[in-house]
Amino acid sequence: MTLKSMKSKSMKSSLYPAQDLRRRTMAWAIKLKVNPRVVRLQDMRRKWGSCTTAGTVTLAMDLLSQTSEFQDYVIVHELLHLRYPAHGRLFKACLGAHVPRWREIAESAEAYPPSPTAGAGPARQPTSLPRGQLRHGRGRTRSGASR
Ligand SMILES: [Zn+2]
Repeated sequence: MTLKSMKSKSMKSSLYPAQDLRRRTMAWAIKLKVNPRVVRLQDMRRKWGSCTTAGTVTLAMDLLSQTSEFQDYVIVHELLHLRYPAHGRLFKACLGAHVPRWREIAESAEAYPPSPTAGAGPARQPTSLPRGQLRHGRGRTRSGASR
């Protein structure tokens, strides 16, 4: 293994993981051509992230202990809400274009203990991402889950 490849791998162990996450969110914002007004990290119990119509994107502190792949999924998901308020076809197409494995990622995240009240979030945050219900928008009947 070369020294170079080791170096790029160790980028994760930054002294300021919260700053890294915010920086990555801004990088995604540029890529997705959206313009969040504020990106903040907050202790969130029941959600991984939320986004308001005013352009405030909030990410859960707990994301810092998740895989970067999962972080990207949540970041892209929330940022895309600046463009598409609901989980419509365009939203999913765009999400799939940038995070091709998002369904898989969302599925693996379900192992995370979901809150019993997940999904009953406050009405003024319509685009929040409740934990344990990452596949929201697909309806609650799960028929034919296997391929
Ligand atoms: Zn959403």
